[in-house]
Amino acid sequence: MILSEDSYHAFSEALLAWFAEKGRDLPWRRQYSAYHVWISEIMLQQTQMERGVRYYCNWMRRFPDVRAVAEAPESEIMKAWEGLGYYSRARNLHRAAKQIMTLHHGEFPRDIEAIRALPGVGEYTAGAIASIAFEQDIPAVDANVERVFSRLLDIDTLIKDKRAKAYVREAVMACMPKGKARFFNQAIMELGALICSKKPSCGVCPVRMFCEALRLGVTDKRPVLQVKPGRIYVKLATGVLLHKGCVLIQKRPPVGIWAGFWEFPGGSMEEGESPEETLLREFREETELLVRIKRKIAEIPFSYTRYRATMHAFLLALDIPAETDRGFPKPVLHAATRYEWVPWPELERYIFPSGHRKLLDILKTGGLFVESGGAVSI
Ligand code: SF4
Repeated sequence: MILSEDSYHAFSEALLAWFAEKGRDLPWRRQYSAYHVWISEIMLQQTQMERGVRYYCNWMRRFPDVRAVAEAPESEIMKAWEGLGYYSRARNLHRAAKQIMTLHHGEFPRDIEAIRALPGVGEYTAGAIASIAFEQDIPAVDANVERVFSRLLDIDTLIKDKRAKAYVREAVMACMPKGKARFFNQAIMELGALICSKKPSCGVCPVRMFCEALRLGVTDKRPVLQVKPGRIYVKLATGVLLHKGCVLIQKRPPVGIWAGFWEFPGGSMEEGESPEETLLREFREETELLVRIKRKIAEIPFSYTRYRATMHAFLLALDIPAETDRGFPKPVLHAATRYEWVPWPELERYIFPSGHRKLLDILKTGGLFVESGGAVSI
């Protein structure tokens, strides 16, 4: 039976009863403060649930309220976010917390337009905060909700199409029982996450009797999605330059991917280049330092946005005659804003992109550096 005015009530009753029984016990469902809802919503974008829960709990221990976020230095915010990716989310959280302190006297705004005006808060997140934290009858339509409704209503046009989106929003609004937006919105999302997932489990779906795609046998064809652009494979070479127990790191520019992160110098391999050739070229181009390769450390696979990268990592030494070796040479920076020679154990204090973080973990656990009496040798 297709969703119609007659079935709205029965549909929402079935959905809410299922959610009350099967909804997951998640930390942000224990107290519905706007701050908790906001952080969970931002954190869960592009993040797997298990990982999201872990980061959320750590975050709440460190930043229990908006004030704590607003007053923390950006480096601390970024450090708490390290490994979650899409770092603009963390920067926006920080800016939004400051905005709440100055424009709203530390009180999370209730008005949907004011919520929407916070940095990093789009239509979906604003709807989620307004409905889940403040119990306002406002839809919160994310990809899960779009998938569920594209099947319930058998929408056969692109789900990202403007009209299809508006249709889903209207349908959610029409089915939403007055005053129950907090649980209704969460219930649809939960259904999309647990039952009406990419491969739906229609046999145990609490609303299967309302599902048009199931009746027509086309659940595997809904939602209609745009073909995604393919993955891009890249090869990189990176060098850990160790000198007198310190490692050279440089800070990325304030714009672009991993803005403001620290990294070991290196870059993309060009056509016909070996990883070693790339590294020596990149080091010269980025720092004007002459280095020599001591040994290969590892080949490290990692992903970011559409990219699948393989990073060839090497241990390096300065290529200078011993008699000219006076302290730490100053690199001439071409791809960074700052540099530091950091004693090996202190690298932990810096924030690195995921591939470089993995490299650091390999160095830590692989015994490549051996500490003896405070000094570091290789
Ligand atoms: S019946 Fe199947 S396709 Fe329809 S809403 Fe339920 S899980 Fe999704």
